[in-house]
Amino acid sequence: ATPTAVMVGTGVGASQGVLIKGGRALESTHKVNCIVFDKTGTLTVGRPVVVNTRLLKNRVLQEFYELVAAAEVNSEHPLGKAIVEYAKKFRQDEENPVWPEASDFESITGHGVKATVRNKKVLVGNKSLMVDYNVPLSLDAEVILAETEGLARTGILVAIDKELVGILAISDPLKPGAREVVSILKSMKVRSVVATGDNWGTAKAIAKEVGIDCVIAEAKPEHKAEKVKELQSFVLFLKVHGFRKRRSDGRRWNNDSPALVAADVGLAIGAGTDIAVEAADIVLMKSNLEDVITAIDLSRKTFFRIR
Ligand code: ADP
Ligand code: MG
Repeated sequence: ATPTAVMVGTGVGASQGVLIKGGRALESTHKVNCIVFDKTGTLTVGRPVVVNTRLLKNRVLQEFYELVAAAEVNSEHPLGKAIVEYAKKFRQDEENPVWPEASDFESITGHGVKATVRNKKVLVGNKSLMVDYNVPLSLDAEVILAETEGLARTGILVAIDKELVGILAISDPLKPGAREVVSILKSMKVRSVVATGDNWGTAKAIAKEVGIDCVIAEAKPEHKAEKVKELQSFVLFLKVHGFRKRRSDGRRWNNDSPALVAADVGLAIGAGTDIAVEAADIVLMKSNLEDVITAIDLSRKTFFRIR
């Protein structure tokens, strides 16, 4: 394409809220034959909600949630926020709850949180967190977990003093347009993959709902980047930029910039000053998943026309 065509292409993109950072980004996009979608907030709505609680021991739900919320209240993770939000329902002072004091709070990336509350050691997170802290899982618990994951929900386990006491089911439904986007991409000969730190069961169930048959699950950000390189396709990695605010100490609860950089084209949804937006080659300013199709279309029109 001529420099003029590239200028026109990026200009048209900008007018539609598709920010393409330079001619190389526009050119690369027409070769894309595989898109890796980050799951949370990209394919899903990104606002997880607790939908069910199963207590395995005789416990009072209100007290149970008090301990859980006290452990999660310092978490930056959307799952932590969802749990604290739900715990408020069990309280009189729902508007402005004062949770019990938690000490030794620790956020274990990709696994959950740990804290001491009322002299009890509280763990909230996934199966590998329980394995790491030697909390035995009963057959009951395994069955509940499998059921939860089959419904495309994330099962979060709660242990108190190394005893598994409850399982929360957290739902983050698909975005309304996601299935159609995947289907249109398929007709454009672009394969879709879903990548997530969530467990395999939930990830596969969500993938099935959206019409994707290739899944990368239980992946830390650096693993997502490795997998992107292994795919041996011309890959576009797509994610919503951190929808959590930057903390005062500058840390974010998560970021997938390694995967954005590892991809041939990194694409972030949503405007912002987040690292993801900085690392991306293209930014979808309107936060519409559909605009990934606009970007590919635009690039194909620019680079297939004049050759
Ligand atoms: P993703 O960004 O794909 O959601 P993460 O690496 O952030 O993946 O999280 C992976 C998993 O770790 C979650 O699905 C959850 O099981 C567990 N986890 C992470 N943070 C928390 C938390 N604050 N409370 C409970 N579980 C958590
Ligand atoms: Mg994440």
